[in-house]
Amino acid sequence: MFSKKLAKEMNLQIMHEMYSAYLYLSMASHFEVDNLKGFAHWMKVQAGEELEHAMKFYEFINDRGEKVNLEQIDQPPLEFGTALDVFKMVLEHEQEVTARINLLYDIAVGDKDFASQSFLNWFVDEQVEEEKNASEILETLKMIGDNGNTLFMFDRSLGEREQE
Ligand code: MG
Repeated sequence: MFSKKLAKEMNLQIMHEMYSAYLYLSMASHFEVDNLKGFAHWMKVQAGEELEHAMKFYEFINDRGEKVNLEQIDQPPLEFGTALDVFKMVLEHEQEVTARINLLYDIAVGDKDFASQSFLNWFVDEQVEEEKNASEILETLKMIGDNGNTLFMFDRSLGEREQE
């Protein structure tokens, strides 16, 4: 059974995933004007993935016979600090998303809703990847410190991220 409670939280999750895309697009633009084109590219790829996550929830809600209820999306921040500050924010944001996915899973377990648990398994795995990616970049940025040359090289390497 697909409970009203889980349907409501999954609808909210569409908004959270859309907000993630907004946040990463805002970060992308920040990097563009800072001339860190590789970081900007990485963020745009990330934003595209978040839209795909939103659409997975959208389709699943419809597949379970419920109507999608699109919630208001907040405005993301406009001002960001250094690349290190940005990736601290990315990691914290992804940890919040993980907590959201865990909440959904918890409801699905309580409901004995095995179809939703199966659907959510993908997101559980995905969040492990998201947190790993963010913390690896964060650790690299800590090592780089204020070495401009190394930051430039790292920016180049992030520019090679491919669309998944
Ligand atoms: Mg996501």
